[in-house]
Amino acid sequence: MKSLSDTTGDYLTYEEDEKLRDHCGVVGVYLSDHETNASRLAYYGLQSLQHRGQESTGIAVSDGEKVEHYKKMGLVADVYNHETLAPLKGYIAIGHVLYSTSGHATIENAQPFVSRSKLGTLAVAHNGSLVNAEPMKEFLEETGSTFTSASDTEVIIKLIAKNYKKGLEKALTDTIQLIRGSFALAVMTEKTLIGARDPNGIRPLCLGKLPNGWILASESCAIDAMGGDLVRDIEPGEIVIINDDGVLSFNFGEKTARKNCIFEYVYFARPDSIMDNIHVLEARIRMGEVLARESGVAADVVIGVPDSGLGAAIGFSRASGIPYAMGLVKNKYIGRTFIAPTQEEREQMVFVKLNAIKYDVCGKRVVIIDDSIVRGTTARRLIQILRKAGAKEVHFRISSPPVKYPCYFGIDTPVRADLISATHDSAEICTAVGADSLAFISMEGMVEALESCEPERAVEHTEQNGSKKSEANDCCFCQGCFLGEYPMPMIGEIGKR
Ligand code: AMP
Repeated sequence: MKSLSDTTGDYLTYEEDEKLRDHCGVVGVYLSDHETNASRLAYYGLQSLQHRGQESTGIAVSDGEKVEHYKKMGLVADVYNHETLAPLKGYIAIGHVLYSTSGHATIENAQPFVSRSKLGTLAVAHNGSLVNAEPMKEFLEETGSTFTSASDTEVIIKLIAKNYKKGLEKALTDTIQLIRGSFALAVMTEKTLIGARDPNGIRPLCLGKLPNGWILASESCAIDAMGGDLVRDIEPGEIVIINDDGVLSFNFGEKTARKNCIFEYVYFARPDSIMDNIHVLEARIRMGEVLARESGVAADVVIGVPDSGLGAAIGFSRASGIPYAMGLVKNKYIGRTFIAPTQEEREQMVFVKLNAIKYDVCGKRVVIIDDSIVRGTTARRLIQILRKAGAKEVHFRISSPPVKYPCYFGIDTPVRADLISATHDSAEICTAVGADSLAFISMEGMVEALESCEPERAVEHTEQNGSKKSEANDCCFCQGCFLGEYPMPMIGEIGKR
């Protein structure tokens, strides 16, 4: 790996494995009529959350008396089949897909975690990252707990289990008040399904209704896949307890400022999801519109990088009047298992994964939109691909601001030194990736785009900010990766990066 400070060489040669990673999706199902197919519904939900984690998956299910679970490394489609799902009979289920950010890719870290004691069984599926997992773990070890994984989710289940004798509600609120960081939780006992979201609402979690029950899911696209209807998002700092009495909701702790992760809208979430009242596709289209206004350029065609750059490309085209074209094809069948043992083969891999459509770009001035630049690898290779296909000019536009800081809340951003924008300005990045021009959306522009999707946001922003004028760095979104300002003080982690 070469140094990022070399702006002229071919330094952007990273292993695919080193890419910035998304992680984790959770689902929960409660069937009020006690039908026993909750695990099958969870499986449908996990299929549509596969984009949130491809390392391992698991489902825990309860028939009201006992909790069974099954987890394995691999993709949802490969892990479950008729034989593995058939024994998972019950009316309550939680499920998880994992892309680990704390800990490594081993079965020990796969979720849900299940804890059995004479008081009962608990299963926990978690999306997020705790910033005080280490001190909590030390505290638990000092009081007799042992750990089998590197996952901070094990800290959560051990804390709940430790307090379980106080009753479920108290155990949950006590635990949640001890942990710091981001968490969207689906928790299950023999007779109850529980959802909880951290006080800032950093990671998403929503509630859905089935004709015969309830759903919890990281994204509403999973509720759709399970045949349910989105009811609402779980609020920051809210716990919902679902059982035969329906959905009981209460808040834990003091009211804290909403800080939804902005990167969910930029990259993670599926475009068909509605997250915290914002349609993800609409957010991307609006970002593209703002980008066109801020950094327009004379060109013949606008194309987007599949999949997360497509919405912004549509918006850029609409706002600029430059025709939108497909421009690039992504091979759907290349997953993480694609083997590229040498650097040369890894370079080749991008050409296998993405190809330009000559018909759309040859002889043209092309604007290409991607949702983000992290290390710069993708941008550089895409520009090569477009030039090879005969593009006359290539103008790179990015629908999020420069990613300059690591994330401590669940997005596995590389160390700061590996983030190209931490050490290079736009002009330097433009030269390094070989574009004719390059521009990022501004921070204010991105917040404006998101707030325009939900006018309520702007009101909440103004209330949080205490002034009429919106300040981008004091809005309802966590923008830690762009500004280095986080929703809470970090414990122990910052020094490592
Ligand atoms: P890079 O090639 O390192 O500059 O990464 C930028 C590319 O990675 C863009 O095409 C993004 O769509 C994509 N990307 C952004 N965030 C993530 C993530 N968390 N995991 C994987 N890819 C990502």
